[in-house]
Amino acid sequence: TTRTDDLLALRHSEVPRGVSLAHPIVAARAEGVKLWDIEGREYHDWVGGIGVLNVGHSHPAVVAAVQAQLAAVTHTAFQVTLYEPYLRLAQRLNARFPGTGPAKTLFLTTGAEATENAIKIARAATNRPAVISFTHSFHGRTLLGMTLTGKKATYAQNFGPFAPDVYHAPFPYDYRGTGVEQALEGMRELFRTTVDPSRVAAIILEPVLGEGGFLPAPVEFLHALRGICDQHGILFIADEIQSGVGRTGDFWAIEASGVQPDLLCFAKSIGAGLPISGVTGRAEIMDAPLPGGLGGTYAGNPLACAAGLAVLDLFEDGTLLAHARHVGQRLRAAFTDLQGDIGAIGDVRGQGPMIALELVKDRVSREPDPDLATRIVEEARDQGLLLLKAGMYANVIRVLLPLTVTDEELDEGLERFEGAVRAA
Ligand code: PLP
Repeated sequence: TTRTDDLLALRHSEVPRGVSLAHPIVAARAEGVKLWDIEGREYHDWVGGIGVLNVGHSHPAVVAAVQAQLAAVTHTAFQVTLYEPYLRLAQRLNARFPGTGPAKTLFLTTGAEATENAIKIARAATNRPAVISFTHSFHGRTLLGMTLTGKKATYAQNFGPFAPDVYHAPFPYDYRGTGVEQALEGMRELFRTTVDPSRVAAIILEPVLGEGGFLPAPVEFLHALRGICDQHGILFIADEIQSGVGRTGDFWAIEASGVQPDLLCFAKSIGAGLPISGVTGRAEIMDAPLPGGLGGTYAGNPLACAAGLAVLDLFEDGTLLAHARHVGQRLRAAFTDLQGDIGAIGDVRGQGPMIALELVKDRVSREPDPDLATRIVEEARDQGLLLLKAGMYANVIRVLLPLTVTDEELDEGLERFEGAVRAA
């Protein structure tokens, strides 16, 4: 047996099965788009630690910043002493806030904590209890996170009772027959029959569904939601944990629509692999909770903030975002070509380089084909390309490759991708 087999056996005996595993390989080293396993096999990594590595594995600027911070101050807890990286990172994220007026930023550690805290802040600011999220959504694995999550089968299981006063409105998903008008009617019905809008603190939405299968919220839907929020004094929370930090070719996905959120949740790629998340929002809303109500021992840890500053430096002059849009165009062109040849590709969808393929039995019925998606992922791994599935029906293959990928690396990755789709 190989060392990989031994470690897989160890995983089986030592770790609960509730933690799933997409690829039975053991990572040894990674750099940029490439990852090597302990058997010495090289892969192109189009998973990026689930959307964490928009600037690639071990970016030299991130490594240098974290090493310098590690040697200077590793941890004090921001509730105990100040340290400059937290303040500078907050200042720079506030300057990038896509909403109106002055902004403030709170740092946390995980994405789930960011959505939890956005709800806490919204409740404190509005003095209202209820929250609305959407079908197909994913907002984390904590009690409130899994309650908000619309994609219940995997994440909520038998973990109830769930948090009270959370309601789900339909996400507009055309291929399942829910257009924008129907989705808005669903929201109105929720207001008529289930929760009075005057009790609703916030509506939380992913501008592009991540785990839900890379479905962008239609621009007219985002504008309509903003209107509903304004009409009823409800706060609009954008969950940009997966769609943010350049993933769609804009720094925040919602920027493409011009809709201004009141609060924005971020995580993942802001720390380039160091655990950091947070909430940026309108200053007067962010200031609603009293002293002591927000924070966490590791929240905005110095190492993670140093990584975040290095990441923002990489996005500073707009070159990386321009390259991201170019990568998105190349991926879309390649996938659309492939779709012309392969009837099982239902839809090529997403926003910029946040792109995915939907696998279906045929394009008329659009019946999901999760088995084909699995075969493609396995075939791709055999050809040296790591992919990840998504979607309510697990029939979507999403691409979360580094936005720093070169054209040559993209050619090579696409060759492996197309080879896998054709072989499966
Ligand atoms: N929200 C969105 C949109 C996500 O994609 C994720 C993670 O995939 C989360 C929240 C939860 O983040 P975490 O796993 O860091 O708690």
